Amino acid sequence: MQNRKSLISYIITALLITLIINTLLSRVSQSSLEEIDYSRFLSMLKNNEIESVEIQSDRLLITPVEDENSPADKKIYYTGYLYDPELVNKLESAGVKFSTPVTDKQSPIITFILSWILPFVLFYIVGSFLMNSLSKKMGGGAMSFGKSNAKIYIEKKTGVTLNDVAGQEEAKESLKEIIDFLHKPEKYTKIGAKLPKGALLVGPPGTGKTLLAKAVAGEANVPFFSLSGSDFVEMFVGVGASRVRDLFKQAEKSAPCIIFIDEIDAIGKSREGNMGGNDEREQTLNQLLAEMDGFDSSKGVVILAATNRPEVLDKALLRPGRFDRRVIVDKPDLKGREAILRVHGKNVKLADDVNFEEIALATAGAVGADLANMVNEAALRAVSLGRDRVQQADLFEAVETVIAGKEKKDRIMTEEEKRLVAYHEVGHALAAAMQKQTQPVHKITIVPRTMGALGYTMQMPEKEKYLMSKDEILEQIVVLLAGRAAEEVVFNKITTGASNDIERATELARQMVTMYGMSDKFGMMGLESIQNRYLDGRPVQTCSSETSAEVDRVVLQIIAQCYEKAKTLLNDNLEALNKISEHLIQKETIMGEEFMEILNSVSSANSIE
Ligand code: ADP
Ligand code: MG
Ligand code: ZN
Repeated sequence: MQNRKSLISYIITALLITLIINTLLSRVSQSSLEEIDYSRFLSMLKNNEIESVEIQSDRLLITPVEDENSPADKKIYYTGYLYDPELVNKLESAGVKFSTPVTDKQSPIITFILSWILPFVLFYIVGSFLMNSLSKKMGGGAMSFGKSNAKIYIEKKTGVTLNDVAGQEEAKESLKEIIDFLHKPEKYTKIGAKLPKGALLVGPPGTGKTLLAKAVAGEANVPFFSLSGSDFVEMFVGVGASRVRDLFKQAEKSAPCIIFIDEIDAIGKSREGNMGGNDEREQTLNQLLAEMDGFDSSKGVVILAATNRPEVLDKALLRPGRFDRRVIVDKPDLKGREAILRVHGKNVKLADDVNFEEIALATAGAVGADLANMVNEAALRAVSLGRDRVQQADLFEAVETVIAGKEKKDRIMTEEEKRLVAYHEVGHALAAAMQKQTQPVHKITIVPRTMGALGYTMQMPEKEKYLMSKDEILEQIVVLLAGRAAEEVVFNKITTGASNDIERATELARQMVTMYGMSDKFGMMGLESIQNRYLDGRPVQTCSSETSAEVDRVVLQIIAQCYEKAKTLLNDNLEALNKISEHLIQKETIMGEEFMEILNSVSSANSIE
């Protein structure tokens, strides 16, 4: 709106200026003036060559009679005004029209205004418009240096409530106190209780930290000042610090309110141990610390911050009186996932067969953002199939789309590749079935996916597990290696299709040795610790290099034993492997029930023999 107004006034000004310039120019260029001397004027007068004369204060403007040979040549002559009392008489007797202009007697002040001040004002207006739009385009960069124009994002009402955040019950519980405080600060200050100035929301990406902060503001019904950590870090030293100052000043004015600093690790990184240093970030951090100490929390300003790397934060930020509360926003468990699905399911039309519990079971490890995405993908699929309600099948397909990418129907595999992929996938499934004696998979497909998988086995989810026994981990490794084992047992040929299986099996085996104390060789000695727990959770070795070489040997042993076991398992069930694989090659996708039917028919036939 504002933009359009200024654009319109800019256009009007520009038009006005062109108009003025144009009229001025046209008056000058209309005719060319030529000076002549007074005697020439007198002779022209005698020869009747003059049409009219304009008597000005200092000169005479002479319009000659039109020349018939060249009528376009409209020259106007002028000559200096000579004191000549007979002039009027002479003109009259020669029959020349004469006059004197009224405008010529303009006061000098008006002339001055017209010729100097007006153009100056006009140019000033145009110039300032240009500057304005220029600096807007540059995002207030270099031109507004020194003047802090922090992109503070203020919401009077976030419109999000705690009901929109599902599956984070502990986090919500610990934030309720803050909400209550924002409602009635007096209740707390009366007793003399000091509320935490700030709370730090910690957890993996996509678990709903930003959402929770908004929900707190929404529940408390207070304004929400939010700024991302990277907004503070600018090219110029000192800008970030002044933004922090600004933010707190504004917030204090509209207390009670919430200040939310997202991704605070961008400024709050530990100051020790980073080489070279970053003056700007350090200054910003110092300013933040100073502001947090300086402001009076009894006024009702609460600072929330979010990060997924709490371990890199400066210790000074975490000491009491600053972000002394930590609210863990972890990946949701089974119940939590179901609740999140329900929250997002409210926004779409659902068919009767939708069962969110099943979906929750199939999505272990997914965070809130993934689940929200899945519900949306399911709705998109329902629309593209011309339905007006989301069915369970849409949801399952969406889970696969989010995990493994979209089906890639146009990718043509050769007959031989198809066979290999089918045996590989059935190998996984069969190994799982033989070890657990239950239906191992929800679905097996050999339709390639956009994210690279040629085939895909969707594991049958069991109960949510928090603990795994040593035997279970070994079984899992056998299942992972059974894909490659099937290739070798049946085709006596190995392919690149097992790379991901190998990676995961090796990781499991290594964790058994280094973290879970499950090897005879090292017993309970811890050899690795986890860094960045809320991001990738990368393990870091804590042992000497000789030990590390020994670890590799033990890991190799575990993997070799498991691979042998996988091959034995498949060799013992070759008939089932062949039957199920051939069926899969025919149909490209089979469900878990079909898998079990074929498996059971083979084994019962065997036991009759
Ligand atoms: P984070 O800040 O932790 O990275 P966000 O708060 O930005 O994650 O979450 C992204 C989106 O995922 C949210 O807008 C919401 O739609 C969905 N989401 C994440 N966690 C939850 C949750 N616990 N309940 C409901 N929706 C969630
Ligand atoms: Mg976030
Ligand atoms: Zn595999």
